[in-house]
Amino acid sequence: MDFQYWQPEIEKMPRAQLEALQLQKLKEEIGFALRTSFYKERLSKAGINSADDIKTLDDLKRISFTAKNDLRDGFPYGFLSIPKEEVIRLHSSSGTTGIPTTIYFTKDDIKRWSNYMARCIYGTGCTKSDVFQNMITYGLFTGGLGFHQGGEEVGMLVIPAGPGNTTRQFKMMQDYGTTVLHATPSFLLHLETKMKEAGVKRESLSLKRAFAGAEPYSEDTRRRIEALLKVDVYNSYGLSEMNGPGVAFECQCKEGLHIWEDGYITEIINPDTLEPVKEGETGELVLTILCREATPLFRYRTRDLTSFYTEPCKCGRTHRRLHRITGRSDDMLIINGVNVFPSQIEEVIMSMKEVGNNYLIVVEKDGALDRLTVKTEVSAGIFMDDTRPLNALKEKIKETLQASISISPKVELHESGSLPVTEGKAVRVKDTRPKDV
Ligand code: AMP
Ligand code: ZN
Repeated sequence: MDFQYWQPEIEKMPRAQLEALQLQKLKEEIGFALRTSFYKERLSKAGINSADDIKTLDDLKRISFTAKNDLRDGFPYGFLSIPKEEVIRLHSSSGTTGIPTTIYFTKDDIKRWSNYMARCIYGTGCTKSDVFQNMITYGLFTGGLGFHQGGEEVGMLVIPAGPGNTTRQFKMMQDYGTTVLHATPSFLLHLETKMKEAGVKRESLSLKRAFAGAEPYSEDTRRRIEALLKVDVYNSYGLSEMNGPGVAFECQCKEGLHIWEDGYITEIINPDTLEPVKEGETGELVLTILCREATPLFRYRTRDLTSFYTEPCKCGRTHRRLHRITGRSDDMLIINGVNVFPSQIEEVIMSMKEVGNNYLIVVEKDGALDRLTVKTEVSAGIFMDDTRPLNALKEKIKETLQASISISPKVELHESGSLPVTEGKAVRVKDTRPKDV
């Protein structure tokens, strides 16, 4: 196979040199972090008052883990390391409650992020001759703009299509000769179903590759998409706290995702004991960013479960590979690529006095896509045969939830005391989607 590298000197850098580069960048990040109110305090508690207090990569372990809740507590500017006028963009993602986790970028931060994305895209064999239809959400979600910038950096023709409207997507693919797609794996499968329904012939399209990420999927799902759409599918992993996509990506070998270690220091821990797992064992991924000035983050608990490959990759890159993510160590749900915490739903429905005490969140497959149903009891004084106020309440719950979690759920109302009650710990979430990872 002919491999191509965006930055061969970094992608194939010998490990010792790579670690020296990590140490140098870690020291820089410490310098940035000492300018944030959150880390100034935390680092000084760990006896770190200047970048020179970091002598080896192991010194990172003196800093305690950073969790999503810390970002919430530091909201909105507790993690910002520079004056606000130097910030050119923010992105945010769901928090466990209504407060989002927000990340800020300088102009150089965006340039560095684009470069990592270009590295990922180019490493799959794409070139400036490709036409790239980016079918993922633009906006606060990092997937849209992250891939967009990376595609432009490579020099591809980027179509900022966004998700939805499959008829329009097919039309664009035909009109512009799209060769590369980016979407969630479930949207790619949905696309194939719609393609058949719309009578679009695969031969009328020029597709070669697809990037799929933002939600977990199995090797079987990858093969299915590859067989149905006749494209090479590459797994893309990232999270908004670490910029977004561009953290880890598959190369042409399609065997694990190279994590860019000049941009991220990676640990894998046992989520219960918080101790490192043995080489090759599965645990929670913990990341320290080395490529962002405006919002430094050390030892961030991603909650994503994975493990390292122990062998080097055939492509010659020295950056280690992660196995595809198999799940999470918290209760976050990913519904059609959108992150939702059950606590966000609870917060919305329990604030309404018409809603009773019991509720159930159901997530299931509806064709290739996910469907969310929220079942709630109504308060004791509300009668189920009076449909007008019930329909109004349903609409109110639906709209408020949509505003809070960016997903429009199906809402079902049930009589007070009629939803099943479990003995012991309440079961609030029923996720019947196949777990085939
Ligand atoms: P966000 O911060 O909104 O971009 O969401 C990031 C989360 O999406 C990650 O922490 C993972 O749980 C999930 N995610 C992103 N990419 C993948 C992927 N390729 N496989 C599995 N989960 C993913
Ligand atoms: Zn490789």
